[in-house]
Amino acid sequence: MTKPLRLELGLDLPLGEPLSAGARAENWLDVLPEKANVLRDYQRDILARCAMAIRKHRRVLFQAPTGAGKTHIIAALVAAAVEFGLRVLILATRTRLVRQLHERLESFGISHGVIAAALPGLTGWSRRVQVASVDTLYRRCVVDAKMPLPCADVVVFDEAHLALGASRQKILNSYPNAWQFGFTATPAKTSGAALSDQFDALILGPTVSELIEAGMLVRPRIFAKPIVTAKELRAIRKDSKTGDYATGELSELLSRPKLIGDVVQNWLRIANGKRTIVFACDKAHGTQLVTEFRQAGVAAEQLTDDDDDATREEAIARLESGVTKVLVNCFLLSYGIDIPNVECVVLARPTRSVVLYLQAIGRGMRPADGKDHVIIIDHGRVIENLGLPTYDRDWSLDSKSNVNVQARERLAESRLSVDEKPRHCRECGCVWLVTEDGSNCPNCGWKPVPKAKPVFVTEAELEEINATLQEQTIAMETFYREACDWYASRWPDRWRIKENSGRFWAWSQTRTRFKRPEDERIPSRFWRIPPKPATPETSGWLKAQMIRWAKRREKESRAAA
Ligand SMILES: [Zn+2]
Repeated sequence: MTKPLRLELGLDLPLGEPLSAGARAENWLDVLPEKANVLRDYQRDILARCAMAIRKHRRVLFQAPTGAGKTHIIAALVAAAVEFGLRVLILATRTRLVRQLHERLESFGISHGVIAAALPGLTGWSRRVQVASVDTLYRRCVVDAKMPLPCADVVVFDEAHLALGASRQKILNSYPNAWQFGFTATPAKTSGAALSDQFDALILGPTVSELIEAGMLVRPRIFAKPIVTAKELRAIRKDSKTGDYATGELSELLSRPKLIGDVVQNWLRIANGKRTIVFACDKAHGTQLVTEFRQAGVAAEQLTDDDDDATREEAIARLESGVTKVLVNCFLLSYGIDIPNVECVVLARPTRSVVLYLQAIGRGMRPADGKDHVIIIDHGRVIENLGLPTYDRDWSLDSKSNVNVQARERLAESRLSVDEKPRHCRECGCVWLVTEDGSNCPNCGWKPVPKAKPVFVTEAELEEINATLQEQTIAMETFYREACDWYASRWPDRWRIKENSGRFWAWSQTRTRFKRPEDERIPSRFWRIPPKPATPETSGWLKAQMIRWAKRREKESRAAA
């Protein structure tokens, strides 16, 4: 089992003249063409990781959240392949994506043909790069067998988390010797299982939090307004294949008029007038929601699996222009479509699938003019059960791993410290983190009432206690930062490769130094604060600590012998 390759700054591919065709085939990504200079550092880092992976593996999966600039990475990859003399086939699931890829390749100056029924003017069969709609390609080359599949040494495809029925798999199976590159924001199946049967290597891109920090995604402002009780949810049967709630039973529960009304009322209160995507449970549930929205005077419509590509594109265009305010669908839009100016996502249904959940939220996180956050309204206890959208997930290709199970275990075990646990406003339903927004509700200013009130303490005494606490917090933070720096300068390699273990080490030293309880968790903001050169006092203490530790180890091993 290969471990996922994580981002590690410092890794990079040179730009310059392409390798000659005489070089070894698996080295084709070792040099990026000059035009790749538009890539961001982490995008080049991802490609460098890929260059390492293709020496050993043929099927590589890229995890790149929406907003990570996937088409840029694809274009650079294709450019390198073309310079080396390789032929490339890019598969896309929607006309819109085909067009986006076509435009990106144009901007990179890569000559290519397009195979898509909706874009007949762009064909060019003799070109060495083809961008194809999976549906069109499947119909023409497999079902009707009117033409052969294009030759390709490299096949690139998007939405790799989707089991797209037989069509895409059948096409991929026709290229057993090609390098296959899949892209997705959520590298797992809907059931939470790993994509281990389809890929040999996984390359992890930047996290959602990192992209928010870089301004490439907007922050979610979350409102939890459960319309079902945890007990009701537990009672619903689970689908044996996906592990999610059985759709029929769920739809029946959610279609009660009171619950439909709650969804619309909450939207009017929290997100009235904002361009919104609502995720319903099934068509019947969606129809009821649309009716209720319309009765409230809101321009709403529904998209279903029965609609063809052109109908979908039109509905999406109406949402984009604001003619339609609320677009209801049943996880149909959860892939393939980017509508940057969506301002609100409503989860009107519960789900147990991390992939469905994150794909749904991802529809709203693109930045757009005048948009600095996206409103998420969760009616289905999804965040309570699967965690915040900004949590880091343990994506892997280990066939035994399951992200859905991991998410539930993580929340059940409560491995989070008090500060890392999301707070829930009793006034407006807002969900927030103290570490990000402070202790009061960022939406309405509601102040949580502390559970344990200090008894018999005068105000002056209280102030004094607070001052002492604050002093200690500052001292601890300073010490921790110095310990990080001490570690980093002593073991620079270890710090570079596994910074987190270094930070853990620094935290455990801090705990000892300040006589804190042994099970006290590292405060989450401590993962990010920069190291600070250690004072002689701090380095002296740490050195003494190391000597003490070494002596104890020696004594222990002597005792054991
Ligand atoms: Zn509030």
